Amino acid sequence: MEDVMGVRASRRHQALAALVTLALVATFVAVAPIASVPGPMLTAFLPLFAMAVLVTEGITAYLLASQFVIAREPFLAALSGAYGFTSITVTLQLLMFPGVFSPTGLFGANAQSAVWMWVFWHAGFPFMLLTSASVRRKYSIDPIEPRRLQLVGLLCIGIPLLLAVGGAYLAIHCDRLLPALIGANGSYTNLINGPIGPAVIAINLVTLIAICVSGRFQTALDLWLAVAALANLVDASLTLIASSRFSLGWYTARVAALVSSMAVLSVLLWEINRLYRGLQKAHARLQEFSIRDGLTGVYNRRFFDERYAREIERAKRTGRPLSILMADVDHFKQFNDTQGHQRGDECLIAVATAISRQARRPGDFVARYGGEEFVFVLPDTDRAGAATVSERVRDAVAALRIASTAPSGIVTLSVGASTIERTPPTTDALLRAADTALYMAKNSGRNRVCFSDIAVPA
Ligand code: GH3
Ligand code: MG
Ligand code: MG
Repeated sequence: MEDVMGVRASRRHQALAALVTLALVATFVAVAPIASVPGPMLTAFLPLFAMAVLVTEGITAYLLASQFVIAREPFLAALSGAYGFTSITVTLQLLMFPGVFSPTGLFGANAQSAVWMWVFWHAGFPFMLLTSASVRRKYSIDPIEPRRLQLVGLLCIGIPLLLAVGGAYLAIHCDRLLPALIGANGSYTNLINGPIGPAVIAINLVTLIAICVSGRFQTALDLWLAVAALANLVDASLTLIASSRFSLGWYTARVAALVSSMAVLSVLLWEINRLYRGLQKAHARLQEFSIRDGLTGVYNRRFFDERYAREIERAKRTGRPLSILMADVDHFKQFNDTQGHQRGDECLIAVATAISRQARRPGDFVARYGGEEFVFVLPDTDRAGAATVSERVRDAVAALRIASTAPSGIVTLSVGASTIERTPPTTDALLRAADTALYMAKNSGRNRVCFSDIAVPA
């Protein structure tokens, strides 16, 4: 089965990705010159935005991990790790952000903690995308063995999650080890002028180029990973250019981060849905196949056995009549012997098509009982009704006027019919009675209808 990640980038995907790319670039160009203009200090914005990012990244990580279990490609586990890492980093950053849960941030965070978490996030995520791209190049030939699934999953997903927690520990407790990035006035001057800011931009740029070059936008995932990397680059650049919190650039950067987190989730949901719809259609087709006769297209023996048993039970319960007809093509062996099996098959198809048109009421159905024998089930139909249908069925085949070497000169049908009027039958008494009736029709000259009553046990 086609897996979600292997889906080729369709025209629709390409057009949509181009549109998002254009919007990101246009936004960057428009906002960059005014990025440092202070905006309103909306304290609710950050928690709202962080919630959205952590949830989308968390779901993406989960979906990628389940795709890894299905496709057994280590690359998907590494990618899941990258998203899991971001989800946890964003959560921790929110908890230690000054003024959200406490004036200085939770866990004893200092003034530099949140900005360091930002650095870990914006350098860690592209770095992990880069790692997963190289994992993909290295192990892209065969899926890994199922017994190594847990180990690879644990390593590829577990390590990034540990890194996120380790980063939080560093950001809180190692203020002597990590240089101060944020000034007393809340500006990011040290971040921009020191090596950290440019390094974050560089790794984002390298990742974007690597994803574009190695993936070449072949699959939908390649395409949207490139969009995610671009959005992350725009986010990092605007944040640095803005150089302080709650400025226009800072707000716009947060929105870009949201685009980055949603790009891959959207394609995953879209493709999983598409596959699911395809699967449902295939399932319905298979189900239909499983109850149809391959040659004639009428219902098969399996369907008959199941439905017939149900109709018998229903007739017993409701006390309504039930009729069945056994129809058998006359001298069909001779037809095959003289005209060949190919013509025999064509004849059977024509006969099946003609007689199935005679099952007209809802609940009536025809099945191929075997060889050149067909059975009609007519619920809620009494003896008179069965006689009418039998005659119509016999007549429909004669009316085809298929030439034959039989005495009549054409292909004909013998029909045996039986009806339960009141007496509750034993399970196959009705079928046996119709078979007896068919035998009578054959013995009394063929191309006719005979009735037989059910033998009621003493
Ligand atoms: P009768 O009038 O007594 O029913 O004679 P008959 O020759 O029709 O009966 P018999 O049961 O001896 O032969 C049935 C033949 O139907 C045997 C086989 O050649 C043919 N037949 C059964 N299934 C198929 C099929 O799927 N395709 C074709 N071409 N022939 C089939
Ligand atoms: Mg037969
Ligand atoms: Mg026959």
